[in-house]
Formats: sequence, C-alpha cells, structure tokens
Amino acid sequence: MTFIHLIVLVFFTSGVHVSLQSDGSSWTYTGENGPENWGAVCTNGKHQSPIDIISEDAIKLDLGSLKFTRYDFAYEATLVNNGHSVQITLSGVSLYLNGGGLNSTYNFEQMHFHWGAEHTIDGHRDVLELHLVHFDKKYDNVSIAAQHENGVVVIAVLFKLSDRDNKDLDPIIQATEMVGSQWVGTTRAKIQQKIIPQLLLPKDKTSFYKYQGSLTTPGCQETVTWFIFTEKLTVSLEQLRVFQRLETPQGPLLFNYRPIQPSNNRKIYHHLIGYSSSSITLTSNLTHITLLLLISLLSYSHNF
Ligand SMILES: [Zn+2]
Repeated sequence: MTFIHLIVLVFFTSGVHVSLQSDGSSWTYTGENGPENWGAVCTNGKHQSPIDIISEDAIKLDLGSLKFTRYDFAYEATLVNNGHSVQITLSGVSLYLNGGGLNSTYNFEQMHFHWGAEHTIDGHRDVLELHLVHFDKKYDNVSIAAQHENGVVVIAVLFKLSDRDNKDLDPIIQATEMVGSQWVGTTRAKIQQKIIPQLLLPKDKTSFYKYQGSLTTPGCQETVTWFIFTEKLTVSLEQLRVFQRLETPQGPLLFNYRPIQPSNNRKIYHHLIGYSSSSITLTSNLTHITLLLLISLLSYSHNF
C-alpha cells in the first residue's frame, strides 16, 4: 500500500465515521428530523415512551419500596449541553438503586431535563421532567445495557410551576446559563456547588407509577423500566426560561419533549404501601359472598 493509498483510506474511514456521527446526532424535536421521522423502533415499536398515565386505570399494588443508596452524598458534577438537553454527570463513589420490584441493582449514569414534561398524568403536562438514568450493574455500560431486556431504569420527577425559585435547582440553572448562550458544539461546565441527588427527588418516595417502556430519544430501545413519582417538585418561570434559551444547532431549544406514544394496553402500576392484588380480590370476594348470604337469608325469612 502506498502512502497516498493510506491517506485516501484514512480520509475515507474518518469520513464514514463523521457521517455516522452526524446521523446519530441530527435528530431534533421539530422539523424534518422531528419525532415522526426518527425511524426504526421509534416509529414501529409497540412499547414506546413517554405515555399518558391514566391514574384511575393504574393497578394499585405494593411493589416494595425503592432504595436509593448514596443519593444523600454531595458530588462534584459536570453539566453538558449536548444539543438535545442539559445532562449532568457526577464524579466520585457510585450511587445505585434497587427495590421497587426490580430484580437487579442499577447504577446511576446521568440525569437530564425535558421541558415540558414528557409523561402526562390524566392528560396534564407539567412544565419540566427530570430523568435519572440507571443501568443494570451486570453490564459494562449504559449503551450495552440498553440493548438488553430490563437493562435500563429511569426515575422521572415532575416539576410544577411556582412563584418562587427552587433553590436546589440553582447550581444547575447557573451552569446551564454558562453552556447555553451559544452553540459551538457540545459544551460542558463544572457545576459550582456539589450536587446532592436526594434533593432532586420528592420527599414522598412511597407513591410512584411503574411501567415498561423505551428511551424517549433515538434509538428508542424498549428496554427501560420507568418509575414516575407522583409527588412533584417546583420550578419558577425564570428558571424554566433558562432551559428554554439553551442554544442548539437549530437555535434556542424551546422544548425537548417527545409526543405521547400509544400505551397499547400496557400494565401501569401505582405503587402504594400495603396494597396487594390478592387481598383486594379476597376482600371483594368476601363482600360478594356476604351479600349473597344476606340476600338468601332475606328471601328465606320473607318466604316464611
Ligand atoms: Zn430523558
């Protein structure tokens, strides 16, 4: 192989690499690369996310409590503007999640925000949703885990509008202002205060929805167990505006939520302590039997 051949080969290979990369990151939330054209599983999957949760139809069940380990530690954190959201990674000792009916332990990978919320409850869309992404510790990383059934767990926290700033969001908002003013490619900033993940979770962790779905961004792999807390946190309009001003290749990212996907009769559970399907059936059966007994006794006494 001559030197020229080698250069041509390197050029060609790097060209392929670049085009693959631009394919992977060219999806958007509006226009011709928008959600309707994300393709593959995103388009023809049957267990896609997000969904609208109909609270009345959710199956009430005690799934066991979620256990968050080391979420109360303070972590050095970095925030990245990746053109689709702001994503936060933590450094230091690992934090992990189990319980909630999960059959494995899931390591925390990253968290990011969607404005407005992706999941709706009874048709209502909140202004902001935080996703804490975890992967089964038996896999080397989140990309590999996302290729396997039950590989990924996402904890979702909904935020409603408030007159007051949420002080726990302030360090994230400040870092977002630093990476968001112009698009010069993926940019990152060190968050000025340490992040305590626990502060970004609601106080009441005893009530949540759970269902099987997908990643809400391409490639939309259907390997995600979703947990959505029912208690909401708050965000002010001023804080929300900082997210909406985030610069991307398409200009300010006014919103970054995927439209609601068909639930296709998936089971949606509402975890509540003390509920069990067998006790509900037993109770209703007992009520039924008691009623039948009463009716037969009444008709018996009426006849005589
Ligand atoms: Zn997300």
